[in-house]
Amino acid sequence: MRIAEMDWRMVEDWVRHDDRALLPLGSTEQHAGLSLATDTILAERLATEAAEPIGAPVFPPLPYGLAPYFAAFPGSITLRVATFGMLLRDVLDSLKRSGFRRVLIVNGHGGNQPEAIAREWMMDNPDARVRCHDWWRAPRTMAAIRAVDADAGHASWMESFPSTRLAWTPPPATAKPMVDLGRVATLPPFELRNLVEDGNFGGAYQRDDAIMTGIWRIAVAETRELLDAW
Ligand SMILES: [Zn+2]
Repeated sequence: MRIAEMDWRMVEDWVRHDDRALLPLGSTEQHAGLSLATDTILAERLATEAAEPIGAPVFPPLPYGLAPYFAAFPGSITLRVATFGMLLRDVLDSLKRSGFRRVLIVNGHGGNQPEAIAREWMMDNPDARVRCHDWWRAPRTMAAIRAVDADAGHASWMESFPSTRLAWTPPPATAKPMVDLGRVATLPPFELRNLVEDGNFGGAYQRDDAIMTGIWRIAVAETRELLDAW
């Protein structure tokens, strides 16, 4: 249940019988013609749908993360690594203070890499557990994406859902060749922008909703199983 729909007494009641919570991590960054909030929207939706059967609290998604490589695209926001680490630690400290001892981080953005921070935090909080889940590259979800089309880059069809599309930016009809990801990793922001042009790293821009719904169902089930088995 989204924390926006709960009051503090409901959280107090929850932690009396269960100590699990979900924390979605997003990013505000260019996604070609898709919403700048794509990663935040998808991480929150996925966490909310995965938690629905057990009713675990889903905290508000962090809308900002680590995206320095998109700094040349207007509207893209990045935190410094140190800020991100301190922010995440403060949130985890607060969750623990509230009584939570198992936190599933549902990460929606590849640049965030919260594992190092989570592990450091667990060193200092050995009575609590944090599990980091990059939902789109979890084994079954990524296999489902690859089964549709191996060409699936950042801001391509694999991130194009009804919730992330913008009615005023219709997608190009033809697929974009994959960019050289090895090269992308070596470039400063303006050179990266020149290389990736509209921001899609490669692949078709959109696919049928039936295909996207199938992938989404797998992603929700895979995330839910992590929660159930914990
Ligand atoms: Zn994304």
